[in-house]
Amino acid sequence: MVGKKKIVACGQEYVLLDMLADDLVFRAKVVYLILSKDTEEALELLSQRYNVVKPKLKVGMPKRYSKNPACYVGKNRMIHVSCREILGNPHVILHEFYHHLRNVTDAQGGIEKYADKFAANYLQAYRKITSET
Ligand SMILES: [Zn+2]
Repeated sequence: MVGKKKIVACGQEYVLLDMLADDLVFRAKVVYLILSKDTEEALELLSQRYNVVKPKLKVGMPKRYSKNPACYVGKNRMIHVSCREILGNPHVILHEFYHHLRNVTDAQGGIEKYADKFAANYLQAYRKITSET
């Protein structure tokens, strides 16, 4: 499928896809779930949406990354967070999910800038929806 290939080719394409109206609601819901610490559920929805296997989630960091609040290990498809607090941090969780997304779709980790953009895009939707209602 040509359209799908294009999405994989460039991280920015995700932003274009996300401009659909029902996507706004979807993104806000994902952020809400993370804020409520329903992080597993949020990852489930995200994985369904992008048609990828769900990443594993673990509280506790691999030694090498122990100074970071969170990280993604592509080898075992696992998002590590340093403490339970981070499970409720949408920016961090979405940032790491982006690395997962890139890892399973094109075997790269994706660049930090795009990971932050991906997360910001979700938070923006959440702010938009919560300020309208
Ligand atoms: Zn990162």
